[in-house]
Amino acid sequence: MICSTNPATGAELARYDEHSDAHVELTLNAAAQAQRQWACRDIASRAAILPAIARLLRERREQYARLITLEMGKPLAEAQGEIEKCAWTCDHYAQHGPAYLANTPVSSNASDSYIAYDPLGVVLAIMPWNYPFWQFIRFLAPALVAGNGAILKHANNVPQCALALQQLMLDAGVPAGLVGVLLIDAGRVKAVIEDERIAAVTLTGSTAVGKLVAAQAGGVLKKQVLELGGSDPFIVLADADITTAAKTAVKARFGNTGQSCISSKRFIVEASVADAFVAAFTAATRELVMGDPLLPQTTIGPLARPSLVSDLHSQVERSVAAGASVLTGGAPVFGAGCFYPPTILDHVTPQMAVASEETFGPVAAVIRVQDAEQAIALANATEFGLGAALWSGDIARAHRLARQIEAGAVFINGLVASDARLPFGGIKQSGYGRELGAAGAREFTNTKTIWVG
Ligand code: NAP
Repeated sequence: MICSTNPATGAELARYDEHSDAHVELTLNAAAQAQRQWACRDIASRAAILPAIARLLRERREQYARLITLEMGKPLAEAQGEIEKCAWTCDHYAQHGPAYLANTPVSSNASDSYIAYDPLGVVLAIMPWNYPFWQFIRFLAPALVAGNGAILKHANNVPQCALALQQLMLDAGVPAGLVGVLLIDAGRVKAVIEDERIAAVTLTGSTAVGKLVAAQAGGVLKKQVLELGGSDPFIVLADADITTAAKTAVKARFGNTGQSCISSKRFIVEASVADAFVAAFTAATRELVMGDPLLPQTTIGPLARPSLVSDLHSQVERSVAAGASVLTGGAPVFGAGCFYPPTILDHVTPQMAVASEETFGPVAAVIRVQDAEQAIALANATEFGLGAALWSGDIARAHRLARQIEAGAVFINGLVASDARLPFGGIKQSGYGRELGAAGAREFTNTKTIWVG
């Protein structure tokens, strides 16, 4: 049984029987057949489906945003922003996808030689609940242009979003079966990965599940893209604009109620400006409004599941016991909803739980350092390598330091965010492969050499 539960109230919204093995079989067959025909269409006609998806996303923005908020708890305005970003990304790949995937001439000793990008087939997309529309659409839009099909296995707490995505595709004119949805327990995913009708796998999720899926896909030699956890540093150097950095820090840590892989989680601050930064960051954090995520004034909703609250609070308790000091927040709100207040811990050391583990909720860890060199060393002292923010008034130095940071993206004087125009992904335990940009469009293609004598 797959249940949809409102994390703000604990009320059950819907429940679904898991799809049977016979349904899985039909879904895989339909996807394989539809993909073969889709791949035969020219790229301009494949790209032409995306504006239709974008148009429906915009028309149905309120309906989808409300669904997201009800199922996983993010504040409604953020859910609306998520839908708009999905539409914009569809527009982006409609316009630029054909160029990203166009034949690339290469001079060699042939009379003609070039690279062509052929589709791989049907890609299994295993997706998390934190951006239930965005995570799937950012993979799907370029995958469709490239000629692939997709099967979505969504997180089991957002089944209504999964079904809405499937209906959206049909309504937009995507051929029946090309984008399938499976409501199945995680334990049944391995058989799907191993099925011969699945060509490749993309997973956005935790590092632990990434390792399992990578082993399963590796066992049958199928390509994977893994977008996994993160513990992004937000480095504030002594010459930074402290006021802007502190304001941005609030968005960077508490957007999506802190449940983002690219949330800044470790705030690494040079000691000479640490008091000023912490004071401004704490004051701005106290202005956040926790409550019913459907209300327009709410900026902090519930966490998506009860276990996220207990896991997060355990990290806070262990860090406080080890010597961290609580500047704001620090304890769960008891009641039916999964609420945890925005929390800042100061005087954190790298060994404490909030610095050494991924914190998936509204908890910021402030680590004070002596200089830029120590800041970079601590930024890299993590198993993760997803994004990083670097704040400095000296842009030339920031460029140099950015190259020393072990991450898939470094944002100088800004908020780490995904953007359809730029590649997105991690290194180390944050995974491998890229989404978005030209690199993302080519991930699920066969980079084929054509050589003419
Ligand atoms: P999760 O437990 O890893 O779940 C992600 C997806 O994997 C869900 O669909 C889940 O299905 C499925 N899954 C779980 N166990 C599986 C198994 N044994 N085999 C196959 N699939 C399995 O992650 P989460 O806690 O929902 O999401 C938060 C994590 O995702 C964080 O670590 C976060 O940093 C990461 N994340 C990364 C990015 C990125 O782009 N790098 C973006 C967002 C989130 P069920 O729900 O049915 O278990």
